[in-house]
Amino acid sequence: MAADTEPLRTQADLLRRGLADLRTEDAELASILDAEVTRQHRTLSLVSSSCAAGPRTLAASASALLNVTVEGTPGRRHHAGCENADRVESLAIRRAQELFAAQYAGVQSHSASNANYQVLTSLAEPGDTILGMALDHGGHLTHSSALAFTGANYKAIRYGTTSQGVIDYDEVRKLALAHRPRIIICGATAYSRVLDFQRFRAIADEAGALLLADISHIAGLVATGRHPSPIDAAHVTTTCTHKQLAGPRGGLILSGRDADIKVPGLRSTLRAVLDQAVFPGMQGAPAVNMIAAKAAALGYAMSPRFDACMGRVRSTADEMAGAFMAQDYEVVGGGTENHTILLQLRGGITGSIAESALEACGIIVSKKRAPGETRSSFVGDGLCIGAGSIAQRHIDSQGCRQVVDLVCRILGQVTPLGEHKYSLAPALQEMFRLEVEALCLRYPITDYRDR
Ligand SMILES: *Cc1c(COP(=O)(O)O)cnc(C)c1O
Repeated sequence: MAADTEPLRTQADLLRRGLADLRTEDAELASILDAEVTRQHRTLSLVSSSCAAGPRTLAASASALLNVTVEGTPGRRHHAGCENADRVESLAIRRAQELFAAQYAGVQSHSASNANYQVLTSLAEPGDTILGMALDHGGHLTHSSALAFTGANYKAIRYGTTSQGVIDYDEVRKLALAHRPRIIICGATAYSRVLDFQRFRAIADEAGALLLADISHIAGLVATGRHPSPIDAAHVTTTCTHKQLAGPRGGLILSGRDADIKVPGLRSTLRAVLDQAVFPGMQGAPAVNMIAAKAAALGYAMSPRFDACMGRVRSTADEMAGAFMAQDYEVVGGGTENHTILLQLRGGITGSIAESALEACGIIVSKKRAPGETRSSFVGDGLCIGAGSIAQRHIDSQGCRQVVDLVCRILGQVTPLGEHKYSLAPALQEMFRLEVEALCLRYPITDYRDR
């Protein structure tokens, strides 16, 4: 029997044939897919959100569940043929509840941005007041920015951080009492301090507001007890699954002790309202293959190996922050309490220049903009650096210092020529690139395996 007429009976048959077919029948696409694997192995990501999904998560996402249309929740579907979709969604829900000690978990949101909109639309009316962290202080677009749905559909009020990069809780309280928002949003994208969820809840209670915590950036630290959990402090918690949880692109909606209360102004319990907000509120059928991948990632997140990885995230972040400060770089707040290091750049090197020059040498970082910085977010005045990939690569303390040393040596050789343009001698750039590549080969991305 020719290979391409063999029946496909198992997931393994599918994946094997899929890879073979891509290679023989769509070489153009196959070569791009291979090139991306190579790129990820040969470049060093210091992007604070980055974590590589492991092979089992990738394999789960490439499953026949992609073909299943299931509107509704397990056991209450609008379609037939949902038996395995029900099982996989129930498994993902159970794992999310267990991992985060949540009473409620919704696993259908296509992304964390969607999850945030779903929560907001379920709890607030258009035009209601929302209080969230300002984008240029480290908040997320969906928390209050005028550029996003939140800012456009609600009256968005914004709080920020002090010069030490700590949330100004007194300002949050003052704004909450003055504006009486329907919802307060906490959680950040570029923030290096521990979030005080209890304090946020106290403010929300005092102001008669609901509290939404978005832990997209710190979900792994929360899940392993290295950051306080908002599950019972917030009315609702959201997270994406593709940052610290090393899962597929997607979102989770979680709730703790408030899951079964009837919030004033709502028709039913939070649990019911949240389910309806996703479907039929804002989404149609979920991506069941992605729910399978979420289940895989959540299962892995309960393993001792993931716990050890999150331990390395914390120790590596401290190690790198210390190494940058030892090289006279300004680290906002003088260190980090999570995975993120906020670096202030000087000497005319903008975030944009640092990002481009480092990328040319194989190091991927994200530029950031300090509070009050007037230049565009495409320019930036600093870098937001994270420890996720370093921890996944098992880069030890000596390796961490080598990484920081490389970043500092590269930036030390860069001559800025404006906001985006710079010069870096090609021979030096090539030398740095080879050094980065050697480091990456010495520390391959192998977190799913023992070393
Ligand atoms: C990354 C991030 C998101 C967005 O996640 P998507 O799934 O890409 O929409 C939401 N909130 C915070 C705080 C984030 O850092």
